[in-house]
Amino acid sequence: MEKNWQSARIKPFSFLLKVIAASLLIFSVIALLGAGSKWLFGEKIPGFAAVLPGSSLEAAAEEGAEKRVIILDAGHGGMDSGAVSVLGTREKEINLAVAKKVEEFLRMEGMEVVMTRSDDRMLTSRAGRGTAKMQDLLGRVEIAREYENGIFVSIHMNTLPMEKYKGLQVFYSANSDTSKVLALTIQSHIAEHLQPDNKRETKKAGSNIFVLDRLEQPAVLIECGFLSNYEEASLLIKEEYQNKLAFLIAHSILQFAGND
Ligand SMILES: [Zn+2]
Repeated sequence: MEKNWQSARIKPFSFLLKVIAASLLIFSVIALLGAGSKWLFGEKIPGFAAVLPGSSLEAAAEEGAEKRVIILDAGHGGMDSGAVSVLGTREKEINLAVAKKVEEFLRMEGMEVVMTRSDDRMLTSRAGRGTAKMQDLLGRVEIAREYENGIFVSIHMNTLPMEKYKGLQVFYSANSDTSKVLALTIQSHIAEHLQPDNKRETKKAGSNIFVLDRLEQPAVLIECGFLSNYEEASLLIKEEYQNKLAFLIAHSILQFAGND
């Protein structure tokens, strides 16, 4: 009896607590998204407020953005380290760190995201043929091909024998017209908000970029920066810089998904 009496009194109170807790959580998520660009860049970026906070997200969703699946591909992994930076950091690790941050931003916006890898490993192909590297690349293509409405975004870091080169550059698949649009969106947002000196242009991928060559859907590969350049290599391992990079990539994907 005593117990029932207690629970009868406590119930409405605990319900109220739950409502308050839920409201606080929702409020802080909205505030975080709204403040996203301000928090990362020190100022609100025009256009960002239009995509990340609720208002235009609804518009983007209406236009079908939510039906798109984003396939995020962190390059290399496992035995395949990719490039090694002048500071000793391996490309595969930075690729995964940036890809996971992009994933987080996209999920905050309610987008469906598929990661080709979420940990440190090489992929295998269902076809089961070829070298480990070929199987790894085929495995990525096979995952992307499962989603007809997919948008494929591969994250890599660049390297060259000469130290002087730096700056992000986006490569796009020659198989779909919209791939170039996505590449231009990313390239221009980076030049505008992160790398004002970056005069690089997007580049159509040849058959040497295996994954872009094999995919029919919108597909781009982002070389986020040069690990052979001291200045850029030291930025690329910083969490704050990775956040900015990931935020701009996610923002570009959202904008593209809403308009495509
Ligand atoms: Zn790479």
